[in-house]
Amino acid sequence: MRLRNVTGSREKIAESRFVVQEPRERKGRWKELFQNDNPVRIEIGMGKGKFLYTLAAANPDINYIGIEKYSSVLLRAVQKMEEAELPNLKFIRMEAEELTEVFDRGEVERIYLNFSDPWPKDRHAGRRLPSARFLERYDAVLAPEGRLEFKTDNRQLFDFAVEELEKAGWKTEAVTYDLHHDDALRAGNIMTEYEERFSAMGNPICKYIIYR
Ligand code: SAH
Repeated sequence: MRLRNVTGSREKIAESRFVVQEPRERKGRWKELFQNDNPVRIEIGMGKGKFLYTLAAANPDINYIGIEKYSSVLLRAVQKMEEAELPNLKFIRMEAEELTEVFDRGEVERIYLNFSDPWPKDRHAGRRLPSARFLERYDAVLAPEGRLEFKTDNRQLFDFAVEELEKAGWKTEAVTYDLHHDDALRAGNIMTEYEERFSAMGNPICKYIIYR
């Protein structure tokens, strides 16, 4: 998601108490931040944060952290929290590449990827968030029983993701190529911003849930 550069967004993010400013210093101690022992779930590339905000409001016994690289996008999520704060939701402005510097082994109970950038050129395949290279990073922070959930309307990216998970030795708990017509998986589905936009255009939504 690219928004026009919003003036002052970097400063506003740097001042916001909803944004964890020195995430590396939290490594191994994320539960202290929330002052409870509840599981921590993260969305990588959360955009404006609608999905995570809805989840956090519905599940007060789970802690959520949204990761987004652009301040101008993250600002929207911060503004939403200023209107109605949730104690179990925090944000980090960072690149997903740095994940293992910020979270310790087993510290994350679930990872969500929603409508990740497709990086269509072959030479950029390693930048795709469901690539084997990223699965290694997720493996390093995810709890043993943890799950990774990925949704996209981009069939090429999804086919790539399915190949990569097999290559990396992960296993599929559930997979669908048409989430909104899948009786089991559509129950309780929370739509993301992109999901609303692309499904309204008639695109089927693919989803997997994987583990290792
Ligand atoms: N998840 C949201 C937004 C999807 S767009 C939704 O489904 O509506 C993808 C988002 O991921 C963009 O906001 C982009 O800035 C962010 N992003 C892409 N690559 C990233 C990376 N390597 N690290 C952090 N954020 C990333």
